[in-house]
Amino acid sequence: MTAPAPPPPPAPDGPVWAGSLTTVRTAAPQVVLTFDDGPQPGGTDKILAALADTGSTATFFVLVSRARRFPSLLDEVVAAGHEIGLHGLDHVRLTTLPPEEVRQRTADARAELQDRIGGPVPWVRPPYGAQDRDTWAGLTHGGLTSVLWGIDQEDWRPDVDDDHRLAMALTGLAPGMIFQGHDGFAGPEDGAFDGPAPQLDRGALLRRVLAAYAEQGLVGRSLSQVLGDGGVQLREERFPV
Ligand SMILES: [Zn+2]
Repeated sequence: MTAPAPPPPPAPDGPVWAGSLTTVRTAAPQVVLTFDDGPQPGGTDKILAALADTGSTATFFVLVSRARRFPSLLDEVVAAGHEIGLHGLDHVRLTTLPPEEVRQRTADARAELQDRIGGPVPWVRPPYGAQDRDTWAGLTHGGLTSVLWGIDQEDWRPDVDDDHRLAMALTGLAPGMIFQGHDGFAGPEDGAFDGPAPQLDRGALLRRVLAAYAEQGLVGRSLSQVLGDGGVQLREERFPV
């Protein structure tokens, strides 16, 4: 009598590479700094000053709706040597849209952003990190890589203070982790209806975070810089909605 054959493994219901970049494997003492929802006067400029003072670089996931309103601030980000990624045409939750619309608005937004900065935009981060399989396919159709994060300092919450945000920025800290902060706060003019903006000095918070990282021997760098220094992309099939 033979033992029954084990059941076959479940068939994958999608391509195994259908992942988003969530961390970088690296031996270098670097954290990936990313900022969303700008450019915004009073936010982006303070972030830029804190980065400059600490010799850090970052990747900014930009809203095209804001790049149109604050083009000179976008120019400042580029001129300071930071990297530009696409956050969206605006801050609408893409999982509410048909896939073909996601594909078209992503292509349009990327083209406009590349025109504005005069360079390539290789990364995309959907608003709220909200993507399902169809959204992901639309986002990445033109060759963009979807980028999420491993550290969320919760600087989008109005109901917490900087001590909480600093603690969150240190949670799970390790070389190659992708830190998510914000240089702005998307509002109704960006298609977002998320309540009141948090009141904080984004530059002061970033200085505290970078000082705490420095105490652990870690520096902040843009995504492409960490990858260029030998980092390897690690992707997860993560579909938060
Ligand atoms: Zn956002």
